[in-house]
Amino acid sequence: MRIILLGPPGAGKGTQAQFLSERYDIPKIATGDMLRSAIKDGSQLGIAVNKAMNEGKLIADDVMIAIVQERIAKSDCKNGFLLDGFPRTLVQAESLTKAGVKIDFVVEIRVIDEEIVRRLSGRRIHPGSGRVYHAVYSPPKKPGFDDETGELLIQREDDHEETIRRRLSIYHKETEPVISYYQDLAAQDVNHAPYYIYESGRGPIEQVRDEIIKSIDSIKQQGA
Ligand code: AMP
Repeated sequence: MRIILLGPPGAGKGTQAQFLSERYDIPKIATGDMLRSAIKDGSQLGIAVNKAMNEGKLIADDVMIAIVQERIAKSDCKNGFLLDGFPRTLVQAESLTKAGVKIDFVVEIRVIDEEIVRRLSGRRIHPGSGRVYHAVYSPPKKPGFDDETGELLIQREDDHEETIRRRLSIYHKETEPVISYYQDLAAQDVNHAPYYIYESGRGPIEQVRDEIIKSIDSIKQQGA
């Protein structure tokens, strides 16, 4: 099964991607994570994308398309994959269609901007483990420090409010057309068009998870 997860930064895509990847036994391909690990490794790619990422800007389409094409050609993607963070522009979406990559489901998780700002500006990370806290919604026992190691928590450079607002405005301008693109394909019933699933990301994460799984499973059953 091949799934694309769409939604603004902070909609909970990463968490849901993890659930869906386990549930359907497909690798999760999170382009943001791939870029962050390239930065951490100090690779050429990492050096090239560091500044734009910190500023919340998008990385060039040709770079992202090459990274994703290379990744989905790997053997663990034979039975499917889940894309989290790609495609983010129309050009990226069209590149998948042109390459004949058949997508089964496009799942959009929608959350309003003010809620996103609240969520992301309070997000704190333990860099060693990737553990995520929220200053208000899931605070660590001691403010600013990791519960397990006692080490200092950080705020992602691109989680500062001004940068979040820039990321949201880029999302509305560049990524929302991707949603229309897939909605149109589904509505026109183009051969092999992916099923489009809309999900509100406002509720508790387990509820969002269960609703997405229910939608996917019921469509699968109808098709079976
Ligand atoms: P994320 O972790 O998905 O929020 O991604 C973090 C950052 O990585 C984004 O703000 C972009 O700078 C970059 N990025 C990730 N995926 C893409 C993509 N498909 N196209 C362009 N830039 C991307």
